[in-house]
Amino acid sequence: MALFKKMDNLEEEQNTEQLNGETEHVKVLIVGSGPAGYTAAIYAARANLQPVLYEGMEPGGQLTTTTDVENYPGYPQGIQGPDMMEDFKKQAERFGTDIRFGLATAADLSQRPYTITIDDKKKIQADALIIATGASAKYLGLESEDQFKGMGVSACATCDGFFYKNQDVAVVGGGDSAAEEALYLAGICNKVYMIHRRDQLRASQIMQERVFQSENIEILWNAQTKEVLGDENGVTGVRLQKTTGEEYDISVTGFFLAIGHKPNSDIFRDYLEMDETGYIKTTPGSTHTNLEGVFAAGDVQDSIYRQAVTAAGSGCKAALDAERWLAEKEFEAKKAAQKEEA
Ligand SMILES: Cc1cc2nc3c(=O)[nH]c(=O)nc-3n(C[C@H](O)[C@H](O)[C@H](O)COP(=O)(O)OP(=O)(O)OC[C@H]3O[C@@H](n4cnc5c(N)ncnc54)[C@H](O)[C@@H]3O)c2cc1C
Repeated sequence: MALFKKMDNLEEEQNTEQLNGETEHVKVLIVGSGPAGYTAAIYAARANLQPVLYEGMEPGGQLTTTTDVENYPGYPQGIQGPDMMEDFKKQAERFGTDIRFGLATAADLSQRPYTITIDDKKKIQADALIIATGASAKYLGLESEDQFKGMGVSACATCDGFFYKNQDVAVVGGGDSAAEEALYLAGICNKVYMIHRRDQLRASQIMQERVFQSENIEILWNAQTKEVLGDENGVTGVRLQKTTGEEYDISVTGFFLAIGHKPNSDIFRDYLEMDETGYIKTTPGSTHTNLEGVFAAGDVQDSIYRQAVTAAGSGCKAALDAERWLAEKEFEAKKAAQKEEA
């Protein structure tokens, strides 16, 4: 009930840091500053929900690690990832989002309002929580791979495949995602090598069949990447090692990782339903999680599309879902108060 008493004095009470180290209370807390978080902020701020947004360890999200973004609608000439995210941020700020630097390090979602700890110190209580913490692609951990990130090394074929049109590329992995990425690239590139460390794929039977039937995909079995080769212009090839120890090079200009993603959802693990990888489960067609008042948007709940535009779309949905849920709860609280008075 405390939650809804607070709602009676929304204007004064929201987003005000209380004195004496007491916990701050906000109406809508958004965790994450990628396309999902900022879009949720734009919608929530325009709905007068005075959102507070924490940027996390990567302000602007994954797109700040890339150069050209050519598939986000509204930028006919393309745009640099960091510039695009700066635009998102400015738009969220324009409507009054309180954007703060800080990392959510713990969560207590056992009762409402929900409590999030920032940087192991500050505690914030939120009536509605929007989780937009994204998912991080897994890399092999090679120094050369790091060196050529954005210069031929990519973890997103849908995002970067077009830049390698009619060229030879390699995909690392043997699961469904790798098969999917290889097939996508096969439609754009001249030749696709699939580098797999075992002698059979882990992908589903149907995906395997599609890969085997693709004329320009060649699977390099029992092979591990030793080094990504390149020069000042980017990737030129990959050095591989067979299980026998023999090393050989292939010539490619693109090197795509497809060995999985890790959703940034660990701190919510005790409370929210997730799949085996850690993607937060939402009710189909909405951003509602299994806890009322907790919404998930963007890559943290999407193992399939993982695009800026889909993340932004679900950020919009999360803000609308939060706004409707809060309005509903406020109405219920008012009705209960009226009944009590009568
Ligand atoms: C190299 C690269 C190139 C790409 N190119 C394209 C492209 O051309 N077009 C396209 O559509 N998509 C592209 N993508 C995919 C796109 O970037 C993602 O789909 C999109 O950014 C997902 O948005 P998001 O808001 O869900 O999460 P993210 O962008 O991942 O943002 C997550 C945010 O959450 C924050 N965060 C995480 N944990 C915490 C925490 N505990 N506390 C507080 N904050 C936290 C992070 O700091 C970050 O701000 C690319 C991805 C990569 C890696």
